[in-house]
Formats: sequence, structure tokens, C-alpha cells
Amino acid sequence: MRLVLLGAPGSGKGTQAARLREHLQVPHISTGELLRAAVAAGTPLGVQAKSVMESGGLVSDDIVLGMLEERLLRPDAADGFILDGYPRNLVQARALDALLAKIRQPMDIAVQLDVAQDLLVSRLSGRAHVEGRADDSPEAVRKRLSVYEEQTAPVVDYYRNTGKLACLDGVGSVDEVFIRIVEAISPGKDVG
Ligand code: ADP
Repeated sequence: MRLVLLGAPGSGKGTQAARLREHLQVPHISTGELLRAAVAAGTPLGVQAKSVMESGGLVSDDIVLGMLEERLLRPDAADGFILDGYPRNLVQARALDALLAKIRQPMDIAVQLDVAQDLLVSRLSGRAHVEGRADDSPEAVRKRLSVYEEQTAPVVDYYRNTGKLACLDGVGSVDEVFIRIVEAISPGKDVG
């Protein structure tokens, strides 16, 4: 199963991806986590990405695509993957289609977790206290949510138009949302 998880910052993608990884037995590939690891390791890519990430902006499409391609070509992704945090704009959505066509692994489904904006803000400010991520400051959170509205929301329409979108209610307990996803991706289920 090759699955793309879509949803605003705070929508629960990371939490659900971890559960899905166990369920589907395929790797969870988070471009945010790959970038944070590069920043922590101080690689040239990490040095370049650090300040834009802290401000809540998007790292350049070329950098993220190169990093993603390298990750998708690792053997553990040959039987499928859960992609989280990519694509974040239309350029990336088209680049992903081209990349997956090139490696002959077209995606199966895009799952969007839908959560109202005010709930996102309160989830993210709660997480800021617990995890202390540099981009969970109020200012960076505001920026990330506006980047999502302007650049990532069109990606949802992109997948809707290709008939690959399952749009799900992301509000509820972790278990409730997980069950909705499992139902939406189960074989024979109509997407849409
Ligand atoms: P969240 O979904 O909570 O915003 P992520 O961990 O997915 O968090 O991403 C954190 C940051 O990493 C983003 O704000 C952005 O700066 C950078 N990033 C992650 N994925 C991408 C991407 N596909 N394109 C550009 N920048 C990205």
C-alpha cells in the first residue's frame, strides 16, 4: 500500500502514521522528520533548512524532493510506504507523481484528515508545551497554518480531481480516527 497522508499541522498525521505503520507493515516517511534529522546532524542540507523551518516556511522544493527520492529508493520502501508531510504544494504533488511513475510505484490513495482551524491551534499550542519544537512558537504556528491554507489545501483538490482522495473527519480519539482510516483504505472500498 502506497499512501499519502494529508492534513494541516496539528491534524494528527504523525500520530496516525505511526499506527498505520504497524498495521500495514510499511515504513512511515515524514519529510518533516527527515529534515529535523538533517538539522540535528548538521548536514549541509540541514544547515540550509534550519532557519526556514524555524520560521514556519517551506524548505525549497528541490531539496525536499532529492531527500525524498533517496528515501523512497531504500529497499524497505519497495513494498509500500506512508508518506507524511509531502506533497505540500502543487509543484511537489506533480513531482511526486513523476517520481513514483519513474520508479513504477504509483500511489494508491491520499487520505486527508480534516480538522477545524481553532482545534488545530489549541492542539499545536498543547504540543509546544510538551515537545518544545522550535516551530511550535505561536508565530511559527500561525505561519505554518497560513502556508497550509495557501499552498497545501490545493493539493487536496489535486487528488480529489484524480479520484484518489479519501477525506476523513480528523476529530475524535486517536482510535476513532484510526478506525476511519483503516475502513477508508480497506480493499474494495470506493475512494471519494
Ligand atoms: P507539521 O505538519 O506539523 O507542520 P512537519 O514535521 O511535517 O510538521 O514539518 C515541519 C517543517 O518541515 C515544515 O514547517 C517545513 O518547514 C518543513 N517541511 C516538511 N515537509 C516539507 C515539504 N514537503 N516541503 C517543504 N518543507 C517541508
